Amino acid sequence: MYYSRKKSVEERPSEETPVWICQKDGCNGWMRNNFALEAEPVCPLCQSQMTSGVKTLPILNPSNYGYKA
Ligand SMILES: [Zn+2]
Repeated sequence: MYYSRKKSVEERPSEETPVWICQKDGCNGWMRNNFALEAEPVCPLCQSQMTSGVKTLPILNPSNYGYKA
């Protein structure tokens, strides 16, 4: 799903994307906000609470675009 951590420079457009980020120290769990099915999801890795934030991520499906605000 979203385990890719490669840092190679790609020519993909990216943007600041709303995400949920795990609050647990040392856990790298996060998910795209628009993938979360629940209002307040838990971390898929450690089941801790998550907090909303942003990450700069490659744009998914540019042709099928649209976030829930
Ligand atoms: Zn976590």
